[in-house]
Amino acid sequence: MIQITTPQELQQYRNNLPHAETVGFVPTMGALHEGHISLIKRSVSENDKTIVSIFVNPTQFLPGEDLDAYPRKLEADLKICELAGVDSLFTPSTDAVYSWEEPTVKAPKIKGYILEGYHRPGHFDGVLQIVLKLLNLTRPTRAYFGKKDAQQLYLIQNMVHTLYLGTEIVPCEIVREKDGLALSSRNVYLGDEERQKALLLSRSLKHATRRIIEGERDTERIKQEMVEILSPTRVEYVEIVDRDFNLLHEVQIENTIILVAAYVGTTRLIDNMWV
Ligand code: AMP
Repeated sequence: MIQITTPQELQQYRNNLPHAETVGFVPTMGALHEGHISLIKRSVSENDKTIVSIFVNPTQFLPGEDLDAYPRKLEADLKICELAGVDSLFTPSTDAVYSWEEPTVKAPKIKGYILEGYHRPGHFDGVLQIVLKLLNLTRPTRAYFGKKDAQQLYLIQNMVHTLYLGTEIVPCEIVREKDGLALSSRNVYLGDEERQKALLLSRSLKHATRRIIEGERDTERIKQEMVEILSPTRVEYVEIVDRDFNLLHEVQIENTIILVAAYVGTTRLIDNMWV
């Protein structure tokens, strides 16, 4: 595995790959866990070459968010990538990828500013800005994103489609702990008691899924029941949308995503289920 730290080196690496080879790309913010590893392994198994990036992207954090505290574990991440069969690891500094003045990407007016985008205004502008840069640098055949960040996944698919980027976006299943907690780099912030409370997110989603299997279709009723289950946490939103992030009054089987965002202590967690 080679480690690359500048965009210029990455471009050179990419340009020197044989044309016939397929390239998989997995963008991350590091502090890698089994969720990231599942994306990386899938890319390694589906492509000739796999590029992983580790970059804690400042433009997707709002003032007052956890940019400085965000876990950084580069040494361990390097080993994980090496063992998983990654060919090249891109670990740039902020100065290497951002100029003091440059054009900026604006997330779509509606879908980029509801739910996550409403509570973190501008977050998706920053996400799309960095993902566009990274896709331009790596020009991958396929890029791998977790369903864990469902709205991000939707917005990236939308960007790739509308800006004709030509990469196949591969959605990957959410990896969970045995007890249901969705893996997240931010889980390290949770104390023992908070971790127990954090389980309520996946429990509320399981409850919703069970109610849908039983035949419930009224999204208001399902959301109310979820909010009750989540009451020991500070709920930011519970919402039920279709796969294009239109709000739903009635569940549409095979076209619905149930979403939750909640604070446990000072840690903000998100989770979702696709039904
Ligand atoms: P992050 O490092 O949090 O920016 O995440 C990098 C990629 O890993 C994103 O596409 C995430 O959606 C994905 N990811 C994060 N957590 C999980 C998980 N528990 N299961 C599957 N994918 C995940």
